[in-house]
Amino acid sequence: MKDEVNYLHFLKEIGVDTIPRPLAVQLKDALAPSSFVPSPPTRETAVDLAARFKEMAAQVAACAKCGLGKTRNKAVFGAGNIETDLMFIGEGPGFDEDQQGIPFVGRAGQLLTKIINAIELDRKDVYITNIVKCRPPGNRDPLPEEAAACHPYLAEQIRLIQPKIICTLGRHASQVILNTTESISRLRGRFHIINGIRVMPTYHPAYLLRNPGGKRPVWEDMQKIRDYLKENSDMYQRNGHGRDNRSR
Ligand code: SF4
Repeated sequence: MKDEVNYLHFLKEIGVDTIPRPLAVQLKDALAPSSFVPSPPTRETAVDLAARFKEMAAQVAACAKCGLGKTRNKAVFGAGNIETDLMFIGEGPGFDEDQQGIPFVGRAGQLLTKIINAIELDRKDVYITNIVKCRPPGNRDPLPEEAAACHPYLAEQIRLIQPKIICTLGRHASQVILNTTESISRLRGRFHIINGIRVMPTYHPAYLLRNPGGKRPVWEDMQKIRDYLKENSDMYQRNGHGRDNRSR
């Protein structure tokens, strides 16, 4: 009953007036290796994280390692709390993000913000980035060679942040991170353990804008993330989000 009440609050939070039908999704407990999640996920304690992220953002802003560097307006490195336990990864910047240089700021981004708020967090509590840092023309999926060229930036972001959970948004990001061709409907709904990090694939907010019925499974995925973090992270207790306060 408590979950149902929470779900109704979640729907209200993300702007849904009608209750979508639940999706029945059966998932297997298979784990997949992935070169996109670095191993071992050790952190260099001496590193000045803020300076390292600033340096990488400057590298990305000038990057021309793949063809997307030629067509972008602004590179979109990532945004949020670099000391977080929760990281969101989408596939790539869209039109609004390319204009502003900030991830998830369009309509889908606004919905993502509401989803984050629904699990009692703010955008400033989490880190948000994409598989590729430059907009694929026409919002197409990034090509494998583009994702491969951009991989070192993402791998370094993950290595430095060391999130307890990565939430992959949509089919493409989920398949890249989990190194699989399984459909998002089969991948979502459970944690996949990759090099010690829990990966929760879920539907992309842009998909939810077109398919409101996907909001219930997303809410189920978000509850699993929230519940795990409440048990295993001090994110919900922290105010200052200082690394010194983070339990590991
Ligand atoms: S998508 Fe990544 S690899 Fe390609 S140009 Fe942009 S930053 Fe460089």
